[in-house]
Amino acid sequence: MKLIKDGMLIVRPSESAHQLLLRHEQTDTLIGLLWNPICLSALNINCERGCASVFTNVISDALLGSKRSSDLLFPTSDLTSLFASRAGRYIQKHKGTIRLGRRAKIIQGTNNELKLEDSNESFSHIVVATSPHNLKTTFKEPSMIQSTIDQIDQFTYEPIYTIYHQYKKDSSTGDRMIGLNSPYAHWVFDRGITHHDAGLIGAVISGSGPHQDLTNEQLSIESAKVLDDAFGLGTPLWSKVLAEKRATFSCTPGLERPAQITEKNGIILAGDYTYRRYPATLEAAVRSGIEASNIILRSL
Ligand SMILES: Cc1cc2nc3c(=O)[nH]c(=O)nc-3n(C[C@H](O)[C@H](O)[C@H](O)COP(=O)(O)OP(=O)(O)OC[C@H]3O[C@@H](n4cnc5c(N)ncnc54)[C@H](O)[C@@H]3O)c2cc1C
Repeated sequence: MKLIKDGMLIVRPSESAHQLLLRHEQTDTLIGLLWNPICLSALNINCERGCASVFTNVISDALLGSKRSSDLLFPTSDLTSLFASRAGRYIQKHKGTIRLGRRAKIIQGTNNELKLEDSNESFSHIVVATSPHNLKTTFKEPSMIQSTIDQIDQFTYEPIYTIYHQYKKDSSTGDRMIGLNSPYAHWVFDRGITHHDAGLIGAVISGSGPHQDLTNEQLSIESAKVLDDAFGLGTPLWSKVLAEKRATFSCTPGLERPAQITEKNGIILAGDYTYRRYPATLEAAVRSGIEASNIILRSL
């Protein structure tokens, strides 16, 4: 592998991960069996369409960082109890208020102060942490951040499909997570091992592909066939397809992503799409949140 020459990797602006890999003499086999699966799992888009510079950021942070940077973490509980509930308790303990189940709408008061619809309070800063496609509807007058909205209007999105198959309780793939080079099951998670859901196997398909042309029933059948070929699991007792059509923004070459500080004084963005070094990941979302709080602290 000659991807990194003399410790340096030169990425051309606006090239795809595939173009970068070809320039660095990566063979079709290496691209197909190593780099493309890494690109799909990290960027949720294949090498041909994925952004080379974000791809190399991920690779270098994971492989050339500290020993723990390449840890693969498997949560054993759901993400709400893992992080959100704990963060919520911390906020309340420090006298913050959380209003669940309410859609925020940002308005400008008569003196240009920032307010929320249906509330008398005004705020010096508002961190808007919605996904990009919800940003516009979070403002009564989106024109107050028009150039940001214009950038986000250029975004396209990639899906993630998860097909759950329930087998008899003693069925297992034998591993927490296995990668398969199939368009109908990129990654296979054994929930019996990770979450004590015996016999429940999840097949995940990252990004766009031929699976989007199938009905849920056809996709369940195709994915169960792949699992049967790989692990001899037979026919599932039941299957369920969860299709998240706008799971991530498309991390394509040259995509312009908005800055966290917007043109409207006091309106700060957070969310995976604002952390420009990384693709749409939990890590990008968390890092953008930390940066948003630092922006406010620096302005006080
Ligand atoms: C199926 C699937 C699997 C994934 N797997 C992984 C993975 O394995 N690893 C990984 O790192 N990433 C994964 N991701 C990506 C990860 O979930 C995102 O990168 C991350 O959730 C982005 O966080 P965020 O805070 O930027 O936005 P979001 O998680 O989208 O949060 C935005 C929130 O804003 C709320 N909201 C929107 N409008 C309003 C409003 N007006 N008022 C109040 N609230 C509002 C929404 O309800 C939502 O809860 C996956 C995504 C999907 C869909």
